[in-house]
Amino acid sequence: MIHLIDKLFINNSLTKEELIFLLDNLTESDRDYLISKAYETRLRTYGNTVFLRGLIEITNYCKRDCCYCGIRASNSSAQRYRLTEEEILQACINGFELGYRTFVLQGGEDAYFTDEKLIKIISSIKSKCPEAAVTLSLGEKSESSYKALYDAGADRYLLRHETATKSLYESIHPNMSFENRIECLKDIKKVGLQVGAGFLIGLPNQTNRDIVNDLIFLKELEPHMVGIGPFIPQKNTPLRDEKGGDSHTTITLLAIIRLLLPNVLLPATTALGTIDSSGREKAFKAGANVIMPNLSPFECRKKYALYDGKVFTDTESAEEKKKIETKIKEAGFEPVLSRGDNITWKRI
Ligand code: SAH
Repeated sequence: MIHLIDKLFINNSLTKEELIFLLDNLTESDRDYLISKAYETRLRTYGNTVFLRGLIEITNYCKRDCCYCGIRASNSSAQRYRLTEEEILQACINGFELGYRTFVLQGGEDAYFTDEKLIKIISSIKSKCPEAAVTLSLGEKSESSYKALYDAGADRYLLRHETATKSLYESIHPNMSFENRIECLKDIKKVGLQVGAGFLIGLPNQTNRDIVNDLIFLKELEPHMVGIGPFIPQKNTPLRDEKGGDSHTTITLLAIIRLLLPNVLLPATTALGTIDSSGREKAFKAGANVIMPNLSPFECRKKYALYDGKVFTDTESAEEKKKIETKIKEAGFEPVLSRGDNITWKRI
């Protein structure tokens, strides 16, 4: 096993069979070694920095019906909201004044936000918050839309593939196409945006083989960012009674991803922090190097309920930022507010 981990550390790749063997047989002491190698790798690529990104949840209207997600279209208990252009811009300006230099606009797939509206929003953020990076996470679009958003100044786009096993994907995404999701990720990369893929851990019936499909897919796509987190059941969804993912597996997988993709930007996600209060600090030690504090207006935070138990602080953003920075420092890392682009990326 140690030999296998060394091989992963040196070559940044393993075969499918080797990855399955690794996941099936990893002992606690092997895992400690794996995590130490992931830590060594992150020190070499991004040092001990943790990048802070301001997250703004712009809408919870969604036309999709993902079976795990609390803002799915069929959830009639969800209280829907959408921020106005002014509210989005104001949230960015507030964040910019606190020092944030990346804003992540995330939401459901909401037809209200046309390309035209998004282009206007991106342009105004870019003019009021010069030098700041804009990341979008608004679901599946056409290649021409991704291109238009990139041309308007968007820098990055997050679209988790959710699971790389077609049958599992289709069982939890009614009326969605696995092939289209993958096409979108390729299009995002092709137009020049930094692309973020990623998957859910602990989905019903998900096996280590499915997870290895995710790892192989990520290695092939070579995204600039990877977002992974535990699936957490949400009470108004068809998967309400399922078990969900755990922190231990999530952290093991963060370490493996750091070794497979040494240059990747890898967030310690809110979902991980939700199921394990010290999960994010453990994640930094296993190779994660991004955290996304919430800058959404307070009134909408509890409505963006993708899963149960999501922490809705109504702490002032300034205070929240300080708290997070203190936690990062206490864990032995350095909080950084700069754009924090992937070190291999340049705007073309
Ligand atoms: N509409 C956008 C953003 C979706 S929300 C898109 O399609 O990309 C962002 C992420 O939250 C999703 O990609 C999904 O992986 C995650 N998510 C949704 N429901 C979840 C749940 N119940 N538990 C954990 N993560 C969840």
